[in-house]
This record gives sequence, C-alpha cells and structure tokens, in this order.
Amino acid sequence: MANLYQRILELIYPPLPRCVFCGDSFQPYYQLAFCRRCLARMPLITKPVCSRCDRPLRGREQEPCSQCRTEARFYEQGLAVAVYDGFMRELLHAAKYNFRPDLARGLGTLLAAWAENETRLDDIQIIIPIPLHPQKLSARGYNQSQLMAQPLAAAIRRPLLSETLYRVKPTKSQSKLSRKERKENAEDAFLVADCQAVAGKKVLLVDDICTTGYTLSEAARVLLLAGATGVKALTIAVGVLEEKWMLKP
Ligand SMILES: [Zn+2]
Ligand SMILES: [Zn+2]
Repeated sequence: MANLYQRILELIYPPLPRCVFCGDSFQPYYQLAFCRRCLARMPLITKPVCSRCDRPLRGREQEPCSQCRTEARFYEQGLAVAVYDGFMRELLHAAKYNFRPDLARGLGTLLAAWAENETRLDDIQIIIPIPLHPQKLSARGYNQSQLMAQPLAAAIRRPLLSETLYRVKPTKSQSKLSRKERKENAEDAFLVADCQAVAGKKVLLVDDICTTGYTLSEAARVLLLAGATGVKALTIAVGVLEEKWMLKP
C-alpha cells in the first residue's frame, strides 16, 4: 500500500529532475539539465566579444580579435556559449572521455536555452554536427557533438543532419598539437556525403570546442563546395587566446 501511495503522490507531485553533473534535485529552469549551482560555476561569455568569433576581448584588445584579424575562416561567424576554462573544461572533458553521453546531451540543453533569443540563428536552415572518424566513434560509443546538437535542433526546430558530413581522415586530438600541426591535421578531414541536402542551405555547424577554428573552417569549406549558401559555427565553448596561439599581426 505504501508503494501505491508513493506512486500516486509522484503522479500528483512529479519528482524534481536531478542535475546531470552533481545529481542534486532542482527546480527545472528553461529545460536545462543543470542545477543553478552548477550553472553559476560555468564561465559563460560576457561582453565585449569579437563579433566574428564570439571570443571575449581581453584588456585593450580591439575588435575583431587578433586571430580573426590575421586569419580568415570559411565560416562567416563563430558563436559560443561559454569560455573553455575552469568548470567548462572539466565538463567537456568528462562528456568526451569518461563515457558520459548523458552529460553531452545535458550540455546540449545549454545550447538550446542559449538559442531561445538568439537572432543570429534566424537564417539557419539545417544543423550539422562535426562528425567523428568511424574508428573513434566506435571506440567512444557516441559522437558528443551530435548529442549536444539534438536539444538545440529540437528547440529551434531545424533538421539535424548527422549523416551528411563525414570525417574521412583519422585526425589526432587537436589539444596536443602546435598551431601549424592543427592546421595540417584538419586539412581534407571531411567529405560531404549528400550534396543535395546542403545545396542552397544556410548551415549551422555544431561542435564542443573551438580553439583555432581550423576543424570548423575545414568542415565549412567542404559544405560551401557542396553548395551551401553560408555556414555559421556554434560551439559550447570557445578557447581564450593563449600566447602560443597568438599570431603576429
Ligand atoms: Zn548541479
Ligand atoms: Zn575573433
């Protein structure tokens, strides 16, 4: 009987969701998967930012940022929700390497909430996550970028195309490479499997992290070749410019 009573109570007062990171129950807020305490720890992007890549401008840095001023990218605009630092670095690392598909999807709710009033997404027609090489996909079991893009696609009601872009080159992890190696690593990494799906469309690429932007730029390049009218790139986090990435103007 106690069990039945419990179940009836749960029907009337459904249990609160639990935070995907710390496990605490919390009042749902914008359908986010994180409690307010975890949200407060996230280094969300604050203005001023670079208008081309969304990177916060530091100190006396002028707009556009030094990276955008010195190197062109094939995507027209980089968008991000947080800075790749501190707690966000911890979350993204766990979502990728600790077999936490739930956390990857949880981070996607952050993209979905962010997109609510985001006019820069108004012209987007299709969403494409950055794919993993098939070898890496079978080792990891899921593509974190695809999981992150799902709640966003549902929120802004645009089709999510996960079979359109393919990674044909088994690239090394970008994090341990120099700037020059990163560029070479990203070159010719992708192929468009279905040109008809992208021809004449404005595409939003989704990935977990943007540091140099080489991977996203290379994906944008092949999408434009396949006939996309334009590409924007959205990541959960954008890397702050470290000394080693700074280019002499
Ligand atoms: Zn939490
Ligand atoms: Zn920039």
